[in-house]
Amino acid sequence: MGVGIVGAAIAYFLTRSGAQVTLLEASTPAAGASGASDGAVSVASKRPGPMMALACEARSLYRRWVEQGVLKDIYHPRPTYLFARTDEEVAVIAHQGADLMALGERILPLTHAELMQRVPGLGRHVLAGMKVPNDGHALGYRVVDRLLQASGAPVRRHTPVLRLAQSNGKVVGVITPEGTLVADAVIVAAGLGSGPLVGLDDILIPRKGQLIVTDRASTAGAALPGPLMSAGYLAAKRRMVLGQASTSLVIDPLATGQFLIGSSRETGFTDRQTDVLTVSTLLREALAVYPALARQRVIRTFAGIRIGTRDGLPIVGRHPTLPGLFIATGMEGDGICLAPVIGKAMADMVLGAPSSFDVSVLDPGRFGDLPVQGSS
Ligand SMILES: Cc1cc2nc3c(=O)[nH]c(=O)nc-3n(C[C@H](O)[C@H](O)[C@H](O)COP(=O)(O)OP(=O)(O)OC[C@H]3O[C@@H](n4cnc5c(N)ncnc54)[C@H](O)[C@@H]3O)c2cc1C
Repeated sequence: MGVGIVGAAIAYFLTRSGAQVTLLEASTPAAGASGASDGAVSVASKRPGPMMALACEARSLYRRWVEQGVLKDIYHPRPTYLFARTDEEVAVIAHQGADLMALGERILPLTHAELMQRVPGLGRHVLAGMKVPNDGHALGYRVVDRLLQASGAPVRRHTPVLRLAQSNGKVVGVITPEGTLVADAVIVAAGLGSGPLVGLDDILIPRKGQLIVTDRASTAGAALPGPLMSAGYLAAKRRMVLGQASTSLVIDPLATGQFLIGSSRETGFTDRQTDVLTVSTLLREALAVYPALARQRVIRTFAGIRIGTRDGLPIVGRHPTLPGLFIATGMEGDGICLAPVIGKAMADMVLGAPSSFDVSVLDPGRFGDLPVQGSS
């Protein structure tokens, strides 16, 4: 249940293996974070360890989906440009570069002058940076749409799951306002809505992000070769606190020629309002990094809610105490990127097939028994 990018990816892989899938969505497909996010499919930005390794696998699956026609014209390969504004940030980028290289990822450290050559118009506050050539981009709601088409699984819109249906200590279906639906397996991929259903209320952490959309700077595709991603963004992913105020700014050149500028990380907030203070702070920082933005008009602002977890890793796997129940949530700011890998890993798990990817570190059991309230 839950038709964000994770639910859609799971449904895609399950139906391709011949399973019969029904998708239940409280609102409409991509109504959650998947429709209110950027779409960086980026290994460059990932926290070292399992997240970086899984992102690498996910990016390969994105490429395969393009070759197979599933994501034709939706996924765009492009480099990521990491940039630093302080000496401390230069060090963060150097650490990230070392971690990426250890994984076999190509990187190219750049001085200020070299960055200027590749990204003309950069501001003088940028000290140095790094190019990571092999990343990509795909907008979440467009991926959801294509995966649903490709899977052919029926989607029941405006059908929230209220509770799990249990019998003899096993999950046997779900209870919706329209009645009970019986299933061999129930997969909860409902973002924040997963919390009350599977005992994760105290473990999931919402983190709001505000984003700004400009008009077109180019009518011939993206206005920059790749996104400008601050070392502050890396620091947030690496769970580091930098001495100087450092936001997780990203200036993302969309294929439409527009810019997507973001984003805040507001822990504990679940409203989707944007506010003048946050938007103006992001714009001020973006202008200092890339003064050419001053020519653009702001045409829209919006916010989405990332769902993080207490230990910063997603939660993917079998429920620790309830047979028949599977969970895939807590993707924080990485769900667009990771969705193909999570989708395949979850489909393997549900079908009892050998695992294509090692997601054992994401197992829900690491948080204990996860008692489920109010099931009947
Ligand atoms: C500002 C911002 C920028 C981001 N940028 C990036 C990025 O560049 N790259 C990246 O990889 N990730 C990014 N992300 C993160 C990414 O958007 C999420 O990790 C991803 O969309 C999560 O997908 P999901 O399917 O788990 O959840 P969601 O997309 O939230 O889907 C969950 C669905 O479940 C439904 N639901 C909830 N409760 C129930 C219920 N009881 N019954 C039925 N349905 C229910 C909801 O309506 C929703 O449609 C960003 C997020 C934000 C907010």
